[in-house]
Amino acid sequence: MMIVGGLSQDYRAAQLHFHWGSSSSPGSEHTVNAQRFPGEIHVVHYSMEYESINDAKNQPGGLAVLAAFIQEGPELNPTYEQLLSHLREVEEEGKSIEIPGFDIHGLLPQRLDRYYRYNGSLTTPPCYQSVNWTLFNQTVSLSQEQLAVLENTVHSEHDHILQLNFREPQRLNGRHVLTSFKSPIGGRRGPGAAPDPAVVSPAPGDSTSHRSGQGAEGSGAHALSTGDMLAVIFGVLFGVTAVAFLVYVRKTRSRNQRLGSENKSVIYKAATTDENLA
Ligand SMILES: [Zn+2]
Repeated sequence: MMIVGGLSQDYRAAQLHFHWGSSSSPGSEHTVNAQRFPGEIHVVHYSMEYESINDAKNQPGGLAVLAAFIQEGPELNPTYEQLLSHLREVEEEGKSIEIPGFDIHGLLPQRLDRYYRYNGSLTTPPCYQSVNWTLFNQTVSLSQEQLAVLENTVHSEHDHILQLNFREPQRLNGRHVLTSFKSPIGGRRGPGAAPDPAVVSPAPGDSTSHRSGQGAEGSGAHALSTGDMLAVIFGVLFGVTAVAFLVYVRKTRSRNQRLGSENKSVIYKAATTDENLA
């Protein structure tokens, strides 16, 4: 699996993993408007300019991660079931198992054209700041039972259930979070869509993050579609034509007024002359 186009380099998939919480606490790594989701999937890619993920991982732009929120839905997710049904076989640390191949594309949301993007870091040590993050706006849904399997099966050291394996959001520090779509602030949201506006990973009380988010919005950071561009061009053309027409009407009217007053004065003078003569 590769990411081709859209970024300055092409990337090859290396691994995927999950972050989750517990039955009482959500465990996604990203938050949107401080809202955390039950879980998150990360598909880690490395730049094809490097031989391996090891060579790429500490280089600027060396890694690209596709991320999606996992939330609870009414139905069993058949693609995820192909992983989750084997989780009991690796519940102890260090165990591994081979599973039949399947289309891992199905682990991601259907709509891959609506996403947040920013430059960030790995969320596990050594937390290299080398990641092009792409976080999809559409979420993936697991049934309540599937979420419970994800949250309660794998054990860490000393027989503790491995839960809440996420890193806290970091400050934006002036970085812009871009969106591939217009954020419908106050508008209606489609089913399964993460809430807007497009501010990802703001640290609580970090006003900079909000300014940055709005900056990305306001500075036209969305990828404009051809339709949008044409609309802007025709809008500007219409505006220029309207202004030119108004200027023309004004000039014509003032010339007519001038002509009108000149005519009157001429007639008036003539009449006066006549009267004086009489
Ligand atoms: Zn991760």
